[in-house]
Amino acid sequence: MAAEDYYDILGIPRNADEKEVKKAYRNLARKFHPDVCKEPGAEERFKKINEAYGILSDPQKRAQYDHLGHETYTQASKGSYSGSGGSGGFSADFSGFGDIFDFFGGGFGGPRQAGPRAGGDMLMRLQISLGDAVFGADREIEISHAEPCPACEGTGSETRKRTSCPRCGGSGQLRQMNQTIFGQFVRMSTCPDCRGLGKVPETRCRQCRGSGTAQVRRKINVHIPAGIDTGMRLRMEGYGEAGDIGAPNGDLFLEIAVRPHDRFSRRGDNLEMIQEITPAQAVAGSVVPVETIDGKQVDLTIPPGIQHDTALKITGEGVRRRGRPGDLLVRVKIRIPKQLTPEMKELYEKILELEGSSSSPEKKGFFSGLMGKK
Ligand SMILES: [Zn+2]
Ligand SMILES: [Zn+2]
Repeated sequence: MAAEDYYDILGIPRNADEKEVKKAYRNLARKFHPDVCKEPGAEERFKKINEAYGILSDPQKRAQYDHLGHETYTQASKGSYSGSGGSGGFSADFSGFGDIFDFFGGGFGGPRQAGPRAGGDMLMRLQISLGDAVFGADREIEISHAEPCPACEGTGSETRKRTSCPRCGGSGQLRQMNQTIFGQFVRMSTCPDCRGLGKVPETRCRQCRGSGTAQVRRKINVHIPAGIDTGMRLRMEGYGEAGDIGAPNGDLFLEIAVRPHDRFSRRGDNLEMIQEITPAQAVAGSVVPVETIDGKQVDLTIPPGIQHDTALKITGEGVRRRGRPGDLLVRVKIRIPKQLTPEMKELYEKILELEGSSSSPEKKGFFSGLMGKK
């Protein structure tokens, strides 16, 4: 059943002007006022009339209502009410343990709120090898962070009981009267004794001096997912600093730095390496053994006539990211030999002849020995 729209409720046309809206409202409000009307459902009706008038009497709201239509408008306003609370302390990206968390600025902290404060986030840098980035790895790291004090279970109190703060009377706020030339002002500030919590330890814990937290070194296991790259951050939820009692811990962010490799470089999900070949291999084609990043031997076919600096692809030997893995690109560099056997020299000279090229007139350098003999 389609809901009655606000114009139907007030019984006016959609182009009714302000005066008509007001007039219709007055008549209906008088008629259905709960004190006057004893009909069943009158109160419900009266509420609806007020709701309709609240929107249609406000030019801005009315324009928005006309634009969105009844259903969307009423849904949208409901949504914004329930969504704007911002309590709970947990963000929507509840990504769990060690997921890749690409960082964008402003992720830390957020606006400060009254009441128990969430623990601070921590940032650590973690260097890994290219192999770990390609295949993923499990690493043990040591962190030092604040945890709830074990002696008092985080209460800060020997008795593990907390009592109302005497300084602020349990409100967590202090009222300060300021007398100025403009008159008297009341300034509210967070109570420093209880940090706005309204409660203090009954007897201060000797271990943590009432703070409720203890600095602890702890070893934790981190799963580094395959495909991670320099600058990405892993988020370890709840491994940051301890929060106030009743508030969540902060998170630990691990910022990854991948160490350079002596043979492989990375470009996106692909790995690149350089393979040197001889001029003969480039001209005639060849098969060369190539070692992949996991130490596997792969026979790479060099096609005849390959040009210097051409990249050949070995599929699937790149970064093992979820889904399709990257490839290994082997860039071919043709290395000119500096020392040749007499037989090889002869053959190169023969090629030169076949090409119709003249040999070096200076009889120096590469073919000088051969030229001298002739
Ligand atoms: Zn303690
Ligand atoms: Zn207080």
